[in-house]
Amino acid sequence: MSRVYNFSAGPSMLPEWVLRTAASEMLEYGTSGQSVMEMSHRSKEYEAIINGCEELMRKVLSIPDNYKVLFLQGGASSQFAMIPLNLLNKSGKADFVITGQWAKKAYAEASRYGECKAVASSADKTFSYIPQLDPATFTPDADYFHICLNNTIYGTHFDTLPDTGNVPLVADMSSCILSEKIDVSKFGLIYAGAQKNMGPAGLTVVIVREDLVGNAKDFTPTMFNYQTHADNGSMFNTPPTYSIYICKLVLEWIEKEIGGLENMNAINKEKAALVYNFLDESKLFKATVSGKDRSLMNIPFITGNEDLDKAFVAESKAAGFVNLKGHRSVGGMRASIYNAMPKEGVEKLVAFMKDFETKYSK
Ligand SMILES: *Cc1c(COP(=O)(O)O)cnc(C)c1O
Repeated sequence: MSRVYNFSAGPSMLPEWVLRTAASEMLEYGTSGQSVMEMSHRSKEYEAIINGCEELMRKVLSIPDNYKVLFLQGGASSQFAMIPLNLLNKSGKADFVITGQWAKKAYAEASRYGECKAVASSADKTFSYIPQLDPATFTPDADYFHICLNNTIYGTHFDTLPDTGNVPLVADMSSCILSEKIDVSKFGLIYAGAQKNMGPAGLTVVIVREDLVGNAKDFTPTMFNYQTHADNGSMFNTPPTYSIYICKLVLEWIEKEIGGLENMNAINKEKAALVYNFLDESKLFKATVSGKDRSLMNIPFITGNEDLDKAFVAESKAAGFVNLKGHRSVGGMRASIYNAMPKEGVEKLVAFMKDFETKYSK
């Protein structure tokens, strides 16, 4: 067996501990006589899994009791519609900060259901920074204020949260959830696709304040109404059973093997510093984001020469570092170093980059 270091933006690496545990339980989970994949979602065994996953999620993220945790499908992309369908119910207005493609998509989709305003954008510099926000430009009676906390494609992250007063702050945390401690009470709603930092694709987690549930627009499809899932413990229909099981293992790994989110965040900071420090000193490579807006999870970089970028992607792949090609919309390279990327993988990548630099600086 030879496993590569996978720097993909998602789906991405899972902790080896999680994969080994899942493998050991593949043919028979506990004494159930079956795999989790084969289980009825209404069985006692499965109920313990989904309830255990929610309990751990609440513990690891310190989720207050007045928030629902929903296990849904359809990806973060479905939330772009589900959020306005459920939340755009008083003034019908919402504010958006446009920090990249995902934020733009959330804004475009919500605009189909109400009066949406882009309060700031960093499109002028290819989304390489988080724009300064002026609360005077915020819509005072907005039903929600949307941000994408970590911008997967461009490698930026909000260093401070906007102060939206009584307007519920809604955040796409697909590529940073579980990477750092967050104060859930600052948000009205948090959503994330699982395939970056929580588990396999197929699961979308929504953490929503209870008072924001139950006022969906009347034409909202039943499956797109948070109330449907809140009332049924995410079991209105068959949930993504196996993805939820793996998510539970990932949470156990963070709890038991890592020691919680504070430790997780410290490790993530160390890993990111290894890459950024190298990039800042390099004569060949350059980070595309600077200062406090830098993401700990996604690090885009360039050489400034397209042929060299191509050579780097090809040579790194041959050396066992895969998926370092930048997003098709920005080019260059991007190293996604989520929770599950071991520090050793980052150290080896940096060593490889140093060698590459030496080789091509001659
Ligand atoms: C990956 C990603 C998405 C899209 O997620 P899907 O689950 O594929 O719909 C949305 N937002 C962010 C920030 C992402 O990183």
